[in-house]
Amino acid sequence: MTNENTLPGKDSGELSGFAALGITGALLKATHAAGFTEPKPIQAQAIPPQMEGRDIFGIAQTGSGKTAAFALPILSKIIALGTKRRAKTTRALILAPTRELAVQIEDTIKILAKGAHVSTALVLGGVSRFSQVKKVAPGVDILIATPGRLTDLVREGDLILSDTKWLVLDEGDRMLDMGFINDVKRIAKATAPDRQTALFSATMPDEIAELAKGLLKNPVRIEVSPHSTAAVEIVQGVVFARTKQKRQVLSTMLADEAMKSVIIFSRTKHGADRVTKDLERDGFKAAVIHGNKSQNARQKALNDFREGSVRILVATDIAARGIDVPGISHVVNFDLPDEAESYVHRIGRTGRNGMDGIAITLCDPSENSKLRQVERIIRTKLPIVADHLGSPDPLRNPAEKNERFEPANDRNGRRDGRRPGGEKKRFGDKPAFAGERKPEGAKPFKGNNKRRFGGKRPAARAA
Ligand code: AMP
Repeated sequence: MTNENTLPGKDSGELSGFAALGITGALLKATHAAGFTEPKPIQAQAIPPQMEGRDIFGIAQTGSGKTAAFALPILSKIIALGTKRRAKTTRALILAPTRELAVQIEDTIKILAKGAHVSTALVLGGVSRFSQVKKVAPGVDILIATPGRLTDLVREGDLILSDTKWLVLDEGDRMLDMGFINDVKRIAKATAPDRQTALFSATMPDEIAELAKGLLKNPVRIEVSPHSTAAVEIVQGVVFARTKQKRQVLSTMLADEAMKSVIIFSRTKHGADRVTKDLERDGFKAAVIHGNKSQNARQKALNDFREGSVRILVATDIAARGIDVPGISHVVNFDLPDEAESYVHRIGRTGRNGMDGIAITLCDPSENSKLRQVERIIRTKLPIVADHLGSPDPLRNPAEKNERFEPANDRNGRRDGRRPGGEKKRFGDKPAFAGERKPEGAKPFKGNNKRRFGGKRPAARAA
């Protein structure tokens, strides 16, 4: 809520809001113009120590407001120092695991820096390298980059990081999942030794704790959401259906107009394409986003979804990472993710800013162990919304009572593959993922452990 005392120019005698955190002048004005009047908890906690020059280790998800939490102190310092850049250098570097997240970060920074003379540039895979080299040639204030393309530019001598005094690593856990961790370490090593560093991660696997130890100096640790716990506003449920039934179950669900803005997660790129094609065959308009799509196609899919010209977005975990589209009413997990923690990220796309959100997971019996892992992580048993396991035709299954797919209050349903009539599941059922491709990003990137800047470049990856 807007607090009059936080508005710039209001002489209240006492500072509050972002002004109390040390944000001043044009930056404070632009921050308010962006609609940010009251700092979010992560901003209130992370901005003051960064203004004092401290390193930050933040456990926070996208949606927490972490972009402004790291961007405002950097902008503030760059503005105070004035224009001072050498050719081919960047004063601040923000590393993001995906192109979409990088674009989103730059958009936010541009809004926050409106009216201040701060230059930004993007360095991403999948788009013209030439224009990026041209953009960084005179030197920039803030560079937002994915690690693969950035490594390329540094190796070729098109970018020098020795003047980089601020380094931000966003979504560290996803960098790890995508096999970027060695690139990240090398990039950090090439920056100024007296730099200030902020590391953000939604979860804290051991490797991230190790990375933090290596990169951060006496960091202030900030945690804004409990570790691996899904947001409370999201109503969650599971629908048991065999893999071959899922298409029909999904189309039946989507016929419900209550599903206004839906993101459907698929474990694999191939699976995402197949789900999209099936939906189109069933008469639904859907956009798809995954690592094999060109940057333009990804951005168009995201824009169409954001603007509401399509209400269904099919995505893989990695491509959807960091996507912040307000007003997503439903998340559907067409299949369970390989890593249970991804479930938390997936469902976190809905239930934002206090709005209601519903997350439905379609589960084949072969995915039961993954479902149990998810439940262990979120410390909740998912209520059963519908159970189609006893019926070859989900539409004729009497177990399907919840027309709007709102989870029932209790869950006395079966979790061990038993059919509604108490009949045991048939062992030897074809595994759901037989013949499917490897999940996107699940395999750590190999072959670059010994690579240094100047070394041979391995095959390109999707960023
Ligand atoms: P982020 O986690 O940085 O992606 O931010 C999530 C969303 O919160 C974005 O849509 C921001 O525009 C919004 N946001 C961030 N900080 C504030 C704030 N202090 N007041 C209102 N909205 C904010």
